[in-house]
Amino acid sequence: SKETIGCGYHFFSEGMDIRNFENIQLENALYKALENDELVLLYQPQINYKTNQIEGVEALVRWNHPEQGMIPPGKFIPIAEETGLIVPIGEWVLTEACKQLKAWHNQGFQLQSVSVNLSVLQFEQNNLFSIVKNVLEKVELSPEYLHLELTENLIVKNTELTLKTMKQLNGLGINLAIDDFGTGYSSLGYLKKLPISTLKIDKSFVQEMTEDEAAITNTIITLAQNLNLEVIAEGVETLEQAEFLSSQDCYMMQGYFFSKPLTADQILKKYFSHKFN
Ligand code: C2E
Ligand code: CA
Ligand code: CA
Ligand code: CA
Repeated sequence: SKETIGCGYHFFSEGMDIRNFENIQLENALYKALENDELVLLYQPQINYKTNQIEGVEALVRWNHPEQGMIPPGKFIPIAEETGLIVPIGEWVLTEACKQLKAWHNQGFQLQSVSVNLSVLQFEQNNLFSIVKNVLEKVELSPEYLHLELTENLIVKNTELTLKTMKQLNGLGINLAIDDFGTGYSSLGYLKKLPISTLKIDKSFVQEMTEDEAAITNTIITLAQNLNLEVIAEGVETLEQAEFLSSQDCYMMQGYFFSKPLTADQILKKYFSHKFN
């Protein structure tokens, strides 16, 4: 991190490991990634298991590095957050995802939603609401097609600004979802106070189907039902997991069992191709 570099002998005693050096290189390259058009979006289908229909997609960013190839978000989002680059990157993702959904609609492919991940740092900018609103207007996409995924970190912080922004976004008709639900440290009280429509069950609970994790999954589903929230299970990899979830009345699912994240073209071919025959 920057602190380690800045302070004298620590730089040599513990800061100069290879991982850190790699990060500094990545950080420098990330500054140029946006203007060099090196970021790409993949889309993972969200499937209704009951109807076997695709209902939406989640946009997931990748960095197509000129030398290193595809870099997964786990490797550069933390750097982007540390440096603040997540703000322009996040705006690019939002714009791109909305444009793509609009393009699909124009092609006759009537997907119901695109989900975009937002970082806490984006929420801490005082103009997030106007950015989102402007993007939707520019792209001419109606707000109900946009879903935004937030993490529990945001809710733990619970500032006036984030609350205000959430209310504005919801007021516009945007669906707000809590990502990785159950992994954070927030209390449950907020679920009634905040304008949230959807809980995404974290893949750690979906995948480890021991009795305990099944109990957690079941508790989240019941909680969602009682509070009138939608629930999506993510990381569904097997038929057993899908069957268990549907036996618990959770039908919206996302995971490798249905599809890995795909390019926009692949999505169209896989889920809309029959229209061309
Ligand atoms: P996430 O939002 O929880 O996204 C789900 C992650 O799980 C994705 O990883 C997805 O590829 C992966 N996944 C989906 N189905 C399965 C499955 O069946 N099994 C397993 N093992 N994994 C599955 P990905 O694309 O590497 O993204 C990782 C994280 O990076 C995301 O987690 C999200 O927190 C972050 N991220 C991705 N794109 C963006 C973005 O545009 N903005 C922000 N702020 N964060 C992003
Ligand atoms: Ca997500
Ligand atoms: Ca998630
Ligand atoms: Ca996650």
